[in-house]
Amino acid sequence: MADLTEHSTAGEAKNFLFYHMNSTKAVDGVSEIPRSTVNSSLTKEQAWNVFFGAIMKKEDSEPIHYLALRNMIREFGSYYEDEAASCGNNHMTCIGCGLPPDQIEEYIEMAREEGTTPEQFVMSEEGTYNAFEPGRFYCTSCYVNADMPIIGEDSA
Ligand SMILES: [Zn+2]
Repeated sequence: MADLTEHSTAGEAKNFLFYHMNSTKAVDGVSEIPRSTVNSSLTKEQAWNVFFGAIMKKEDSEPIHYLALRNMIREFGSYYEDEAASCGNNHMTCIGCGLPPDQIEEYIEMAREEGTTPEQFVMSEEGTYNAFEPGRFYCTSCYVNADMPIIGEDSA
């Protein structure tokens, strides 16, 4: 989760708009389409398109005008979920070496023996998975290098 501010970049504003895309539609698909808060002559959907049109040409790292950001916040509120930060499985890596399971020999081997994928194997069999950081684990050699930290009773 994240908050859009008057200092957000174009990339953050894009994530914000994608997160709020559904709120531009009538909830039940039958009622009238919601009106824009910022400009009542537009529907929320049209306002969304105006905002998106203004930032889609920018690079993700570019700043955008604070008035545009202020209007987006007025229209949708500042809250949004950052897709990149919240999809844990795509960043499932060893806390020590930073490698994903499908690049670590031991998991490739064991997954092959069990007829599963390295990711699935870590999720179901690796005791350090989720024990220290959400969605991450220690491969055996990093676990040993880290002096075998104790896994909490309730998280194992
Ligand atoms: Zn490792």
